[in-house]
Amino acid sequence: LTCVDIVKYYLSQIEAHNPKLNAFLEVYASEALEKAAHIDNKFQSGTAGELAGLVIGIKDLLCYEDHHSYAGSKILHSFKSTFSATAVQRLLDQDAIVIGRQNCDEFGMGSTNENSAFGPVLNFKNTTHVAGGSSGGSAVAVQANMCHISLGTDTGGSIRMPAAFCGVIGLKPTYGRVSRWGLIAYASSFDTIGPIARHVDDLALVLRYISGADGQDSTVISMSQFSAKKPSSGKRIAYIKEMAEHPSLQADIKIAFFEKLERLKNKGYEVIPVDFPFVDALLPTYYILTTAEASSNLSRFDGVKFGHRTSVSTKDLLDMYKKTRDEAFGEEVKRRIMLGTFVLSADYYDAYYTKAQKVRRLIKEFTQGLLEENEFLVSPTTSSTAYRLGEKTLDPLQMYLGDLFTVQANVAGLPAISIPMGEDTQSLPMGFQIMADVFQEEAMLILAKELV
Ligand code: GLN
Repeated sequence: LTCVDIVKYYLSQIEAHNPKLNAFLEVYASEALEKAAHIDNKFQSGTAGELAGLVIGIKDLLCYEDHHSYAGSKILHSFKSTFSATAVQRLLDQDAIVIGRQNCDEFGMGSTNENSAFGPVLNFKNTTHVAGGSSGGSAVAVQANMCHISLGTDTGGSIRMPAAFCGVIGLKPTYGRVSRWGLIAYASSFDTIGPIARHVDDLALVLRYISGADGQDSTVISMSQFSAKKPSSGKRIAYIKEMAEHPSLQADIKIAFFEKLERLKNKGYEVIPVDFPFVDALLPTYYILTTAEASSNLSRFDGVKFGHRTSVSTKDLLDMYKKTRDEAFGEEVKRRIMLGTFVLSADYYDAYYTKAQKVRRLIKEFTQGLLEENEFLVSPTTSSTAYRLGEKTLDPLQMYLGDLFTVQANVAGLPAISIPMGEDTQSLPMGFQIMADVFQEEAMLILAKELV
């Protein structure tokens, strides 16, 4: 098998399934074939990189030199980056091949991929259901075998949620493990980049290459510091009672979750129910802080520096900004800019933003405390399986509630993984989530491998 054969296989899969599923927004067919031929030559001369032949897809939120990145938005129409995201570059340096750019919710804001300006992504398991979001294209591309691995982003669950809805594996690394350079920002203190794949070993391999210090992102720490952390405390696994008993939890997910806990006990793990006093504070804290950061981050899209500018005539600069933003941002993005602007406004700053920052600290400290006593914290990844298309789009609050199980890892900056947990009575995939202490990805991946 040559690299050219592999690329041809994935291109044929894309041709067969993408017109319906809408996972890829753009496919770099001839470029990928050319690169594959080049790598086949490198194999002959013994100079091929460690990831030679690995065919990856990248979420539309990641920059790739000389290629378009639209962030699922009309406002970045025709934007091309002059450089590649560090995570992408590190895979390219090892001869990975990028096959295309994947659909997502606009600026990563969504849980179903229905907020993309380029249409929803359909779930390959059942095309009347959503893929999950915001990295919906990335999950479905792996689910339907259109690439080997995808790089997605996770601010509040955007890798894990679509992975769970599609029956694949998604990893959100510790905040500070993977450089965010070249990731189009949504909420900078929450955003992470991570892989989606079918096998734990593939995730581990990609994680190894994308991790580590980068002069372009000062929040990333060096690899040597990763392993300097405490050794694992043994075989204690905790779950939060209030979450496992949550009224929003679909009955068959609850059953599957408790079965999984039994399996852990049979493997010799101690499974411990714990209390977490901040369950009701998770979503408000997440949505106050992320909308605040988003309103600031998205102020750069003004029709001057990047992408789209209105073509209607405007009175002055301010009018041009307003018309451009009004035309090109979607409804959800506008909602979040308004919410974020509100919580940052002088009169309400202390009541919302400052308070949410304090609660974030409490959540983080409490969660880390749990992870000092127990090696892992587990839960279902989502409270239900993939929604029907359009099921939640009219009610943003219902949509936000679906993120209950995933946001804790982002609020606390911790690593988490979603692995398949069987199927519900409608044959839709369910996900099991494992969260670990900072930089404990290796232990987390070992447990994930034991359980898949
Ligand atoms: N659904 C969450 C949101 O809309 C998470 C998105 C993400 O992780 N990018 O904010």
